[in-house]
Amino acid sequence: MTTPTIELKPSAHPLSEAERQKILAAPGFGRHFTDHMVTIKWTEGRGWHDGQLVPYGPLSLDPATNVLHYAQEIFEGLKAYRQPDGSVAMFRPDANARRFQASARRLAMPELPVETFIEACDVLVEQDKDWVPAHGGEESLYLRPFMIATEVGLGVKPANEYLFVVIASPAGAYFAGGVRPVSIWLSENRVRAVPGGMGDAKTGGNYAASLLAQAEAAVHGCDQVAYLDAVEHKWVEELGGMNLYFVYEDAANGTTRIVTPTLTGSLLAGVTRDSLLSVARDLGYASQEARVSIDQWRADTGNGTLTEVFACGTAAVITPVGTVKSAGGEWTQSGGEPGKVTLRLREALLDIQRGIAEDTHGWMHRLG
Ligand SMILES: *Cc1c(COP(=O)(O)O)cnc(C)c1O
Repeated sequence: MTTPTIELKPSAHPLSEAERQKILAAPGFGRHFTDHMVTIKWTEGRGWHDGQLVPYGPLSLDPATNVLHYAQEIFEGLKAYRQPDGSVAMFRPDANARRFQASARRLAMPELPVETFIEACDVLVEQDKDWVPAHGGEESLYLRPFMIATEVGLGVKPANEYLFVVIASPAGAYFAGGVRPVSIWLSENRVRAVPGGMGDAKTGGNYAASLLAQAEAAVHGCDQVAYLDAVEHKWVEELGGMNLYFVYEDAANGTTRIVTPTLTGSLLAGVTRDSLLSVARDLGYASQEARVSIDQWRADTGNGTLTEVFACGTAAVITPVGTVKSAGGEWTQSGGEPGKVTLRLREALLDIQRGIAEDTHGWMHRLG
């Protein structure tokens, strides 16, 4: 299949420099969008076609559009960072492109070629590069590629028409006032995903399934939900938008090991999670994937071998876990403070993304 070229139809009325700067002074997350978007269509028999860069704006959908009823939708999230020389680079867009293909397969949607995914991101960031925040801080331009079923009709089947879209949103530092640990509610009655389900696909349906548990976490005074496996309610999976890591320190040997739950099919394979397996080794820590039970989490925290816990994902990069609460009780990680291994990993990964540290893994995709 040939890669469709993306036709440039830029806006005649982009936001003024002054208006843009006002937004960039305090962008928040996902509240403001750049001047443009990229759209590419797919129809059965024809494949991918009609790639366009157009002014950012509403999509017009028939009320019977398939996605509105049966949720055949997938998305991605990745960031572009301003580099020290003023250029712009994206972090591992190829990994997101491949995961987008895996999500598409799970939801019986057509796979967008990796190079088309990257080209669409490139074209949008190139057009809207003035929206990429200045170098130095943790600010970035967040890219949100997504695909929806656009066939009109209420029949339940894989659609014969799809729309791929990329939008971009400037993102401020996740922790405006310094890194702060989050509190976690251990949901023992609600699950996010089941074996054989779509927990390993990045699809809106998984998020819809998580909102009620998230609201329950808030009632218990917690910021985030940690999900356990759906069968035994025993194995720790993820936070529903971030993956988890456990830091083990062997004081006698002076060694550090970071452990993340194994991808069993009901967890999302985070790009940040994957990157940290390597970054940890760069820093001289051991890193591994393993099944971690909730009992082990509690016991190892109690006996002092499990010294820190953190969550990771594109939006926050790394977030320390402070308090863990469940119906059965509550405990605190690393005295409720961000742990030193957590902060070191966070800094190391951010330095690669911001172009301060050398990109030894070939993760940064430069524009132009
Ligand atoms: C996106 C996502 C993550 C984190 O993945 P990253 O690629 O690191 O951003 C974790 N869990 C779920 C359910 C997600 O959707």
